[in-house]
Amino acid sequence: MKPQVEIYDTTLRDGSQGEGINFSAADKLRIAEKLDNFGVHYIEGGWPGSNPKDMEFFQQAARRKWKHARIAAFSMTRRKGIPVERDELMRNILEARTPIATIVGKTWLLHVVEVLRAKPDENLGMIGDTIRYLKDKGRTVFYDAEHAFDGYKDDPEYALATWQAAEKAGAACIILCDTNGGCLPEDISRIVGVARQKLTVPIGIHTHNDCGLGVANGLAGIQAGATQIQGTINGYGERTGNCNLTSVIPLLHFKMGLSCVPASSLPRLTELSQFVDEIANLRHDTRQPWVGQTAFAHKGGMHVHAIDRVARSYEHIQPEAVGNRRRVLVSDMSGRTNILMKAAELGFDLKAEAPETRSITSEVKRLENLGFEYEAAEASLALLIKKTLAHSEAPFLVDAYHVSIRGQNGASMCEATVKVRVGEQTAHTVAEGDGPVNALDGALRQALGKFFPVVKKVQLTDYKVRILDGVAGTAAKTRVLITSSDGKRDWGTVGVSENIITASLQALVDSIEYVLMSGKKGQSK
Ligand SMILES: [Zn+2]
Repeated sequence: MKPQVEIYDTTLRDGSQGEGINFSAADKLRIAEKLDNFGVHYIEGGWPGSNPKDMEFFQQAARRKWKHARIAAFSMTRRKGIPVERDELMRNILEARTPIATIVGKTWLLHVVEVLRAKPDENLGMIGDTIRYLKDKGRTVFYDAEHAFDGYKDDPEYALATWQAAEKAGAACIILCDTNGGCLPEDISRIVGVARQKLTVPIGIHTHNDCGLGVANGLAGIQAGATQIQGTINGYGERTGNCNLTSVIPLLHFKMGLSCVPASSLPRLTELSQFVDEIANLRHDTRQPWVGQTAFAHKGGMHVHAIDRVARSYEHIQPEAVGNRRRVLVSDMSGRTNILMKAAELGFDLKAEAPETRSITSEVKRLENLGFEYEAAEASLALLIKKTLAHSEAPFLVDAYHVSIRGQNGASMCEATVKVRVGEQTAHTVAEGDGPVNALDGALRQALGKFFPVVKKVQLTDYKVRILDGVAGTAAKTRVLITSSDGKRDWGTVGVSENIITASLQALVDSIEYVLMSGKKGQSK
């Protein structure tokens, strides 16, 4: 059954124009496979001929079987003054051997005259020739009408003439593009409405997020009758990015009741979003709607109390519906309910009336007053809860440490020594590093690695320092938040002290204790 809205993903083409995004051909194939499994309808792989990576992608893609998606190659209308069959652009896009060819062309007279330096009629000829030629070669041709909205506002008659040229030449869909991202939803609705009236071919919408309206404008296009929406995963793209498909897809499905990707894919949305960030080597945007880590995080005590009773009361949708999860943040605003829910999330069975609950709550408050913060340091909180409940001994103790820094030939070098005690045994190690924390981390893990092999897999992946305001007469405090990873999961720990090294050591020790607590393996002999 044909869906009501078709999803055209351009993460690999328009999305890769974003700052800091650089996909290899192998990256592109992995993302395309993921998108295909998810059930998007079209995957635009790149612009064949623009670089060797894109051609390599198309060569590989042509050999694979795609379950849901059809692969599209992007190019532009033939160049001015060159017959279409002699234009190298056409040779390249045909060599890509994709079922879909997407061709971008000019709508806006300003661009035709000033940028292309072409006659208005010549541009119409370029559009028509290109589409006809590719269609004759067996391609399904989509026509991306660049600057469609700005062009229409400037000269409606000419804009319409360009779209009609595309329709007449046999385009299978005409996609109106808000290339500069400056339109309001009402502009989009009105102009898509006009296109629907004047054309019989299906209409698509392609928007950018320059005004923070990428998604809103895309949906305005759909409401006005467009049946294809173009965008990127996580909203990647030039400047502020493209229309974000990780918002568009659940909005179409849950809020507008329109079919797009298979319903069974929706719970995999968060995973898709994280996967693409990982391949792009970008940190996941925690505040991203629907799929961000904080999308269903609750902080205020009263909120949390209500969530505990009726989740629906403070959430617009169930987090699991998009593969996300509810999180309870512990902060100085928090009451006992936060601690209880946090404990349950961490796998501890804690009762509201239990004396331990009261003592954990007051301990958290006391530490927060000292400058600790547990929102991003769930592992430190888990240890705190665990130590209170289990009265357990620490698996190791740091008996002594020393950090030194020296300058040498214009470079600085740090050295740290650490002495740890595990049961009756001790280990004493020294390590060098680019900085004091790096050296300390190295020495600590070397020492503990002898007793607990699992520690060798742990890596420090992020390190943040915040100077907390000193109250008059006292020294300012330093809060250190570190993120560690074992390659499979990440956890955060916190340390606070007047001394940055001491604060760092606390956070490092917590991080390792947490690993030892969560994986019972790796015990010392
Ligand atoms: Zn674009």
